[in-house]
Amino acid sequence: PSSSRSAPAADDPALVGTPPMGAFWMPFTANRKFKQSPQLIVGAEGMHYRLADGRLVLDAIAGLWCVNAGHRNPRVTAALKAQIDVLDYASNFQSGHPAAFELAARLADFAPGDLNHVFFTNSGSESVDTALKIAVAYHRARGDAGRYRLIGRERDYHGVSFGGISVSGIGRQRSTFGPLLNGVDHLPTTHDPVRNAFSRGEPVHGIEKADALEAMLVLHDPSTVAAVIVEPVAGSTGVLPPPQGYLRRLREICDRHGVLLIFDEVITGFGRLGANFAADLTGVLPDLITAAKGLSNGAVPMGAVLVRDGVHDAFMHGAAGSVELMHGYTYSGHPLACAAASATLDAYLEDGLIAQAAALSPYLEDGLHALRGLPGVIDVRNLGLLAGVELAPYAGGTMTRGQAVAQQCLARGVMVRAVGDTIALSPPFTISRAQIDEIVDTLRAAILNTVDQPSA
Ligand code: PMP
Repeated sequence: PSSSRSAPAADDPALVGTPPMGAFWMPFTANRKFKQSPQLIVGAEGMHYRLADGRLVLDAIAGLWCVNAGHRNPRVTAALKAQIDVLDYASNFQSGHPAAFELAARLADFAPGDLNHVFFTNSGSESVDTALKIAVAYHRARGDAGRYRLIGRERDYHGVSFGGISVSGIGRQRSTFGPLLNGVDHLPTTHDPVRNAFSRGEPVHGIEKADALEAMLVLHDPSTVAAVIVEPVAGSTGVLPPPQGYLRRLREICDRHGVLLIFDEVITGFGRLGANFAADLTGVLPDLITAAKGLSNGAVPMGAVLVRDGVHDAFMHGAAGSVELMHGYTYSGHPLACAAASATLDAYLEDGLIAQAAALSPYLEDGLHALRGLPGVIDVRNLGLLAGVELAPYAGGTMTRGQAVAQQCLARGVMVRAVGDTIALSPPFTISRAQIDEIVDTLRAAILNTVDQPSA
């Protein structure tokens, strides 16, 4: 909004001084480096963040892939204010409050197929752990306790719990923490930079990568495998859309062997791909979906696991009668999170934001693919309003090329995210075409300005 673009007045409460930096151990951050020249965010509205120096920057990553309906979305803000005046907290252990039941019912409608049951968590990591535990417990509830193995995939990110990093396929994350869950294997990544470079949408090559699952099941004896978990589009490791037909083939193999399929839709859910879920876009129905981020528009922490009838019912009407899942969080279905999520759903559905994301997707795609041919640009990948521009790495130095480009973009007024040497983009769905142009133009200038490695 142009009115808030003007420089803030000196007495503006948003203009805070630098707070004491030592105590806060920042997550996933080079702490010492950040604290030497802190870049603090003090406000937000719509498509923009306001930095401590008063500058407004265009948020091209929706916070951390979560603020899909725009910052301080008026529906969400109003719902939170109304909720805090009525009920701050109520446990959903043995008691309950209406907003949690109402939200679950709405999510069951919003979810594809017969994913009609919702387990609430507070984050993507908790959703992943919850889904893995439900999968293992499901087989036990059916008297099939021999199924304990979990299969993830190289380059997928599933959060930071021990369960999550066990199934994640990120070496550095796994090796830092020593022995992880037993009985975990990984499918090969679908990423094929040779055959699929500069693909638009789902790449053509690579359906056969799914056949590694069949081989893995044979190797281990399928009757020992509980579940397979994949991100439909791997986000944090570089935005890797699935090859055409790949997810369907995974589904077929899982079905043949009685193995559950989990889609980690923490990023891809809630409209990011221009459909409610990747499951809707691809027509492939998993048994469980893990969600977070866009569920509550990032305004209040919330996650959820969406569960198919057959999985849920195995607990309620299992061979041994009803088996309760001994699992849950103090804040599962927190009233404020429910209020935020319900208002976010209104924004998606009543304000047509998911349709808007779908409509804007080709425009973002065209804009980013026009960067092909710039020095160092080795790939552009995209699906919906999720995209990555991959750059050739620098030969060495203290800063990756991705970091150099991200820094340049910020200096030019656009916040992007560097994941390795890929610049990830996932703007709020409220973005305009002019703002997409601004992102593309800024990226172009930043890439041209960082062809040589910065010396500092
Ligand atoms: N799964 C996926 C696919 C994610 O992208 C993330 C977060 N980026 C997580 C799980 C973990 O979510 P959280 O950080 O909310 O725990």
